[in-house]
Amino acid sequence: MDDPRNNPHIDVIEACIERLKQGSLPPWKVEEELVAGFGIDPPENFRVAALCRRGFLEEVTGEGFHTIELPEKPFKLRWHCPKDNLVWELDARDEYHTCSLCGGRLDPLEGYGPLVSNYVGGQEIYFSYAGRIKVKGDVDATFTNLLVYGTGMGPIGVTRGCHLINRIGGAEVRVADKAQAVRCNGYIFKSRELLEKAWTLIKEQLPQIRPEMEQRLKEFSGRISAVEFKPVEKGGEHILYIDFAAEFENFRGHGDISRAVGFAKGEIEALLRGAGVKYELSVIAQGHDGDLKPSPKNKRGRFASAEIRIPDGEFERLLKVDRGKFLAFVRVDSIGAEDLGCQFYSGMGGEIIPAVYKATQVNPQSPLVSSFQNIYAEEDKGDVVYRVELPNVEVGIASTREGLISPVGREALRIMGVRTAKEFAASLAAQVLAGEFNLALEISREKLYSS
Ligand SMILES: [Zn+2]
Repeated sequence: MDDPRNNPHIDVIEACIERLKQGSLPPWKVEEELVAGFGIDPPENFRVAALCRRGFLEEVTGEGFHTIELPEKPFKLRWHCPKDNLVWELDARDEYHTCSLCGGRLDPLEGYGPLVSNYVGGQEIYFSYAGRIKVKGDVDATFTNLLVYGTGMGPIGVTRGCHLINRIGGAEVRVADKAQAVRCNGYIFKSRELLEKAWTLIKEQLPQIRPEMEQRLKEFSGRISAVEFKPVEKGGEHILYIDFAAEFENFRGHGDISRAVGFAKGEIEALLRGAGVKYELSVIAQGHDGDLKPSPKNKRGRFASAEIRIPDGEFERLLKVDRGKFLAFVRVDSIGAEDLGCQFYSGMGGEIIPAVYKATQVNPQSPLVSSFQNIYAEEDKGDVVYRVELPNVEVGIASTREGLISPVGREALRIMGVRTAKEFAASLAAQVLAGEFNLALEISREKLYSS
């Protein structure tokens, strides 16, 4: 069904694939070009355009599309609710032509539109192609970007950013070899003396507890990397927090560290009871270091950064932007986030990171986890260094007991060229850099949001 060789427009498709490869046809202009240059009118152009982008990606990546399917009618239609005077846009396959606001019938309107920009396939979720980016440094690769971004220009912005970054030599990435998973135990004592006693006992017992905990991390090759004690006195209560951190190379490790810390909790309770050290409460302390916190003290996940060094002359020649304006825009944004009391500036990252998580269906899929970023622009030896830092990329990219990844997600990872969690983090940082860079340029040129 998806084989372009069976398509009556095979010659057109091949010509467009060639131009996509040369870079003379931007991927987001294929639909328009099919109408203007080849007379393939809407709605037929939408499916043919997706076939062109799919064929292009298959040629440059050497990977095939199998489970990311292309529907027969990949476009949207417009409908009108006379009662609410609202224009609805529905997937052409959507047969529920009822207004969900008033329950009335919708009237058809003229015109078609693309499902999402740079659409390449997907039945239930819409995949957008978002360019290819060259990275060097801790990871050397060229990644192909697939995003499930939804509506808007995001995928086009990332594609344009990638194109410019590649022209300047690619993104320099730094990525930690391992990611941390953390769980915390909390104990309440009636006095500082009891807390101190417990602390000493637990510390002495740790060399016996640790190997037992590591047994529970074996399946995913984890190891305990740090144990930190933190006493807090508040409202007459003496609380002892114990953070247990474990390192994993390719897995998230969240379930394993939870089981290991659950085991430690039982051992510590028996130890304290045996020594007559009375505690009022012993719990897994979710609030201290349970799920991810937007805190500079957060220990979870893996650090990844991506940067480009922009020589002075490129601002005018390639980027067509005033260097001072560009630097001032980045300054205004980071000071703005700081003034709001944010620990992290989360701009495009807040959209791009979840879009990669959705495309790859990895574990976890929650956008709250790992969507933090910081952004920097610094002057160095006459150049400008523009950088994004992702402090806590937390991801398992293998389909295991830890999290099932659908065939569509595994296919996306193959096409993207991502085989390890480290490569995932590198690709993520590079895409956030591309999206932010393009946005910063467009805003500095005063092109964006100006109708
Ligand atoms: Zn209505």
